[in-house]
Amino acid sequence: MTPPATPEIDQDVVDAIGALGNRSRLEILLALAEAERDRQEQWIRMTFTELYDAVDLESTSQFSYHLDRLVGPFVAEAADGYRLTYAGDKIVRTILAGLYENTRRFDDTDVGGSCVFCGTDSLVAAVDEEQFVVRCASCDTRLLTDLLPESQTRHRSASEIVDSVGTRIWGSFTLIRDGVCPECFGPIETTIDAHCHDGRTLYTLESTCRECWITFHVPIEAIAALHPAAAGFFWEHGIAVLERPLWEFFEQIATKTVTTDVETVEPFAATVEIALDGETGRFEIDDELTVMPIS
Ligand SMILES: [Zn+2]
Ligand SMILES: [Zn+2]
Repeated sequence: MTPPATPEIDQDVVDAIGALGNRSRLEILLALAEAERDRQEQWIRMTFTELYDAVDLESTSQFSYHLDRLVGPFVAEAADGYRLTYAGDKIVRTILAGLYENTRRFDDTDVGGSCVFCGTDSLVAAVDEEQFVVRCASCDTRLLTDLLPESQTRHRSASEIVDSVGTRIWGSFTLIRDGVCPECFGPIETTIDAHCHDGRTLYTLESTCRECWITFHVPIEAIAALHPAAAGFFWEHGIAVLERPLWEFFEQIATKTVTTDVETVEPFAATVEIALDGETGRFEIDDELTVMPIS
């Protein structure tokens, strides 16, 4: 994979970001978002007068000046009024979601599943430096680290936060498998990474977005589990695999219920086996990360 080129920061970007540092302009963006919320519709247009009435400014000339600074990057102007652009929409939702606030902590919470390293069922979910982590209280190994924005924590109890992260991880994996960045929807490039542990090699996808550079690590077994036939095989054996968070799925790997045999890394070709109640489901994964059941 060729590393993404470092982009120059255009003066346009500096000017656009600079234009946001003003209360009245942020109020204009909020007024447009509020109209969308009240009418439960996106891309709502507001007339000049409607917007002026929604913002606390003394004169129309002052208002006009501030609105002009937003038109282009954050607000689009049409014959029938003004609406948020995609960037304006992102900015306003970023503010509403509390992105500029620190993620709140929650009390360490015992979670299900067992440690892939020591096998004990002593997993704990916690916040560490604004990250969501699942670690083993027995051997103190960190099994999983994920982003945790303020909006995910603000109106949820500790157990609801943990559940929401569990749901979000599988959702992200579905996008990553198909080469879509969960953060910006840009194209993802994936390489295979091997980790040796206890005489066993575990493989993960190392997926990096070409556009926004964010990197994700996905166990190869999780890609297999996303296939309807694999989820169905689990289901037939009483396990709703995708309804349970990823750290509970780790148990299937730790106990060798799910095993992976990588034939070649370049191009990638692997077989994932799921052994339950004396039956075995086999799945091939190719270089495109396509999963095919082997009959
Ligand atoms: Zn452990
Ligand atoms: Zn991205």
